Amino acid sequence: MKIPGSHGPGTGEERHRPRRSLGQNFLVDRGIQRRIVEALEAGPDDTVLEIGPGRGALTDHLAGRVGRLVLVELDRMLAGALEQQYAQQPAVEVLQRDILDVPLAALTPDPRSLRVIGNIPYNVTTPILFHVLEPPRPAVVVVMIQDEVADRILAEPGGKSYGALSVGVRAVARVERVMRVPRGVFRPVPGVDSAVIRITPLDPSPVLPGEEQPFRTLVRSCFQWRRKQLGTILRDHPDLTLEGDGMELLRGLGIDPRQRPETLAPELFLALVRAMTGGA
Ligand code: SAM
Repeated sequence: MKIPGSHGPGTGEERHRPRRSLGQNFLVDRGIQRRIVEALEAGPDDTVLEIGPGRGALTDHLAGRVGRLVLVELDRMLAGALEQQYAQQPAVEVLQRDILDVPLAALTPDPRSLRVIGNIPYNVTTPILFHVLEPPRPAVVVVMIQDEVADRILAEPGGKSYGALSVGVRAVARVERVMRVPRGVFRPVPGVDSAVIRITPLDPSPVLPGEEQPFRTLVRSCFQWRRKQLGTILRDHPDLTLEGDGMELLRGLGIDPRQRPETLAPELFLALVRAMTGGA
């Protein structure tokens, strides 16, 4: 069955108007759809979560090819249409929910082997990325995001784009850009170009369970004050509590307290939080 509005106008009643508030720019190029799905490397033994399936651009290439496919779509009308379309395929499940309210562990008994895919809405890219990278982390995440956000995730220390997003993602995962995607292959056409990235969480996680929260707080605090020196941030930032001397702690890790946060590699943020929390 055809999803209302997926190709052509549909009947008046069924027609679904793209909602800008939900970041609805639908991918219409079948070749690119296929390449994104191939990057997930999912097969008949895998459980796949698709975030924001929309009108089924990626779904169409996944259904019937993976063991179990869970679709989480916030738009009620699109979720309803997907439910109808895949009603005869018990391996496809549709949840009409906000992905930010759905922990991955609620979808499968083995979230660590989950494969996650999505052409995700631009307005909530960062929260969605942090959400899917909360432990227990999935096996792999393939997402289409704004090209500029991909640049920020992949930025090296010292550059202007390097920040909390680069550190937050790359401290716990390997990230590759699969391809750049021009804006013209979406309907409606967005104002920016996109990129597909593949995120492979590191296993075992370099961030230990008790360090997750302090690590996030440290990274956020440092980049809130990115123009200040690390020594000053450790001493004065209201969200950071530190027993002992921050300057000494930094020097002990080979970090000059006058350095700014944007010069610190993800591994050094990890070493710093470990030293701050008294870990090994
Ligand atoms: N996957 C489709 C495609 O490639 O054409 C649609 C992609 S569109 C950029 C983003 C999709 O995410 C829309 O269908 C939108 O309704 C859905 N969405 C937006 N916010 C969401 C959220 N918080 N949770 C789940 N789905 C969401």
